[in-house]
Amino acid sequence: MQELIRTLLTELGEDPNREGLRDTPKRVARAYEFLTSGYRADIDQVLNNALFTVDYSEMVIVKDIDFYSLCEHHLLPFFGKCHVAYIPTSKVIGLSKIPRLVEVFARRLQVQERLTNQIADTIRDTINPLGVAVVMEATHLCMSMRGVQKQNSFAVTSAMLGAFRDQGRTRMEFLELIKLRSAAPPMRETAGLACIGED
Ligand SMILES: [Zn+2]
Repeated sequence: MQELIRTLLTELGEDPNREGLRDTPKRVARAYEFLTSGYRADIDQVLNNALFTVDYSEMVIVKDIDFYSLCEHHLLPFFGKCHVAYIPTSKVIGLSKIPRLVEVFARRLQVQERLTNQIADTIRDTINPLGVAVVMEATHLCMSMRGVQKQNSFAVTSAMLGAFRDQGRTRMEFLELIKLRSAAPPMRETAGLACIGED
């Protein structure tokens, strides 16, 4: 990877041998390894020691989870908040594992819609709850750094499964509890728009 970064610096018109850039290939390689470490994480291992049987059937919400990811179209960061809720049947996931789950999927090359769905699907497949809801709000640097009129725009995506899809009241309760930055809460499986890949 370091050799590729050196080549990239040259292609950008830089001198990879000048003092400030000499260690850049090493640093960039290390940064990318960290930012894509989700590929090497084992979801089962992350979750398996943290599943508990409980007698609780109300909504569990973990909100305002900070996440940082890289868009797969531009390799530029997108980042924001993730809100997760589920209604357990018999098993719950240790609360601290929910942010960890978000992190594992965020530290890959992503589009926001897929990231949202992967988090929801994993929770559904792991504990078979009555429903799962995931909402993500993110700023995409490929939009805000490049487009003059898009600096303050952010994308909202949501995945609503089971009771959150079928029961309007459950969904509204969740959306009320997380209070989105945006005026209109997303009602469909994916609302909003991630970065535009063709540009
Ligand atoms: Zn992008």
